[in-house]
Amino acid sequence: MANRLVVGNMKMNLTAPEINKYLKGIEKYAYGKEVCFCPSALYLPYFIGKNFSVGIQNIASTEEGAYTGEIAASQAKSLKVDYAIVGHSERRSYYGETDEVVETKVKMALSHNLKVILCIGETLEERDSLKTYKVLKRQLKSALQGMPAKVVSKMMIAYEPVWAIGTGRVPSNQEIEDTIAFIKDILKELCGVSVKVLYGGSVNSKNIETLNKIPNVDGYLVGGASTKPEEFHKIIEVVVTQ
Ligand code: PEP
Repeated sequence: MANRLVVGNMKMNLTAPEINKYLKGIEKYAYGKEVCFCPSALYLPYFIGKNFSVGIQNIASTEEGAYTGEIAASQAKSLKVDYAIVGHSERRSYYGETDEVVETKVKMALSHNLKVILCIGETLEERDSLKTYKVLKRQLKSALQGMPAKVVSKMMIAYEPVWAIGTGRVPSNQEIEDTIAFIKDILKELCGVSVKVLYGGSVNSKNIETLNKIPNVDGYLVGGASTKPEEFHKIIEVVVTQ
């Protein structure tokens, strides 16, 4: 299956010496492949300029200026970062990012020509009360409604059920396929375009062969497993060769 993207969201993991070791272990397997590394922002320069993509895990909702500790989309772009993850559930839940903040960040990243990976997903409570589609539609509508089709077509959506992140629990292939079809339909309805949709949530080297049978998935957002070179290598191999 051609052109499925594997994105590693390395979160706040690894020290500088560990990053050097990590890169030695993984970079040859990622060269020339549809792979994107999203390390801590401090380490972006270690990954840039090689034959794979690089993404930032979060950007500021404001342009550059007096915002201590923040990183502007323009700064990321000036380092030749390709992608920006926006609206990750950890940002939404631990840092209070509302749908409105996510919308502002999406616009900010796009205006600086970063390719946005917009994360959406339901909590366990929302899933159990059968609100998954309602929540996903609200998140998509809030972030994207009114945006020109040309702009939206440059983005990707990462469907990440919150209850599957870092838990080892994964929805069935049929559930993922149905939810991705729903997301693609909503985006057609809202913006009139086809958009790529990644799946994220406890993807690892053991379940990737099964997950990769889902016909409408366009790639994966991998958290914990992307920080271990052997694990990430196996995931990349399955996705690029299957
Ligand atoms: C994530 O946080 O984007 C993620 C998918 O994490 P994990 O793979 O560890 O569940």
